[in-house]
Amino acid sequence: MKAYDKLYINGQWVEGSGREMADVDPYTGKILFTYKGADKSDIDAAYAAAKAAQKKWCKTTVAEKTDLFEKLLGVMREYAPAIEECLMEEGGSTAPKRGYEAATCAQMVRYFMQFPSRVEGKLQPSDAPGQINLVMRKPRGVITVITPWNVPCLLTLKSVLPAIACGNAVVLKPSSDAPASALLLAEIFDKAGVPAGLFNVVAGGGADIGDYLVGHPSSELVAFTGSTEIGKRIASIAGGRICDVSLELGGNNAMLILEDADIEAAADKALFGAYFHQGQICMGVNRIVAVGSAYQKFCDAFAAKVRALKAGDPKDPEVFIGPLINGAQVKKFEDAVKQTVAAGAKVLVEGSTDGNVISPWLLADVTRDMYSARNEVFGPVCSIMPASTEEEAIDIVNDTDYGLSNSVMSRDLFHAAEVAACLESGMVHINDQTIGEEFHVMFGGEKQSGLGRFNGNWVLEKFTTEQWISIVK
Ligand code: NAD
Repeated sequence: MKAYDKLYINGQWVEGSGREMADVDPYTGKILFTYKGADKSDIDAAYAAAKAAQKKWCKTTVAEKTDLFEKLLGVMREYAPAIEECLMEEGGSTAPKRGYEAATCAQMVRYFMQFPSRVEGKLQPSDAPGQINLVMRKPRGVITVITPWNVPCLLTLKSVLPAIACGNAVVLKPSSDAPASALLLAEIFDKAGVPAGLFNVVAGGGADIGDYLVGHPSSELVAFTGSTEIGKRIASIAGGRICDVSLELGGNNAMLILEDADIEAAADKALFGAYFHQGQICMGVNRIVAVGSAYQKFCDAFAAKVRALKAGDPKDPEVFIGPLINGAQVKKFEDAVKQTVAAGAKVLVEGSTDGNVISPWLLADVTRDMYSARNEVFGPVCSIMPASTEEEAIDIVNDTDYGLSNSVMSRDLFHAAEVAACLESGMVHINDQTIGEEFHVMFGGEKQSGLGRFNGNWVLEKFTTEQWISIVK
């Protein structure tokens, strides 16, 4: 992979003025490249460039904006192999994960290409004779985008594409565990001819520059995807200057298996939902709550499948479980499993650690007070929890501070929909696992999993504002 050791500000590749940082391959432990992170002066330059570029960009026609997205689509497709390589080397992404993410990047450009023509206002009647009331929809201005490392290209584009398509400019701060993914996207934007200043990447440590970015007076909205802990901090800093936020945060998602469910299908779905990208997905299946007789049947069927999962080098196309992102996550994961087992959970499948690779763990007889049931573990473990009745199962699923995505497995689809409506999450998938995203369909969490809704018209409205213009004859 190329060394992405410069920041991208105002259409230029510039050396950062902040501290020296390293991008590390989580599987080999090799330093891919070192770079200097952004400091306050780089951030000021990025916002100044974004502000100037946005003033011109918002005046371009629908056709001009769409033309640019068409060029971007071509370059994004051309770069799919480079995106895959970067996701593997920088993020430890296995073949199914990196293939999905690279293909989705182009699909997202194709979807958000229609946004320039969908920014619509309203004509409203007036109490005053002869007066015309226009409600205009306008871009926000400069949007600050802050992204995590786990699905870095997809999650960056999920904010950046609708932001630019609606006439905004962007200052992006990627995770310090995934700077190359963001800078590779900058290279793609650059090659497609995106005007200088419209998209800027200031890589750097969250603790070093995060507060400064969120507090920056030139930023009209902070679109944050990441942990609930950092999301709370961002909301309080942005709130202090009455700056709007969109927050896509953590999850503690559950698959609820009713007694009439197809157990084989539930086990197949759960295998993907719990262990895809080694369990490092916000919507991943963290808990499985099975009712009555479904519990033991599911434990048996699922354990056999989990044992067969291959962990190791993400280059190996047979490997489903690659490395965790870094040593700190490995330690956090091991502590979480240790605490849960010490509290009485039964180990159905025992994983082992080799560097940053952890082969899958499966725990049963987990109760709601145990660590892995209460927290987002973000690693290759799944906790199976018994429930005597459907009511108890619903109560267990809802007994968490999070509310991102859940699922219900049942052969009775109408009843499953009734159960889904009782679950306190922004998304519920029936007869599926909990990971799912379609860019034209609403996305978002309840409780501490987020604020606001993404994708489709929801993000279009979030990334624009409205203005009343009245005309008196
Ligand atoms: P994180 O919250 O640690 O970091 C996210 C981003 O915030 C990074 O760019 C980081 O550098 C930055 N940051 C850190 N401190 C900051 C500060 N004080 N001010 C501003 N920015 C700061 O999360 P992570 O470990 O990168 O990602 C994993 C988390 O993200 C999990 O909790 C996961 O559930 C969540 N996530 C949520 C979604 C969603 O759509 N709901 C999607 C992916 C990941």
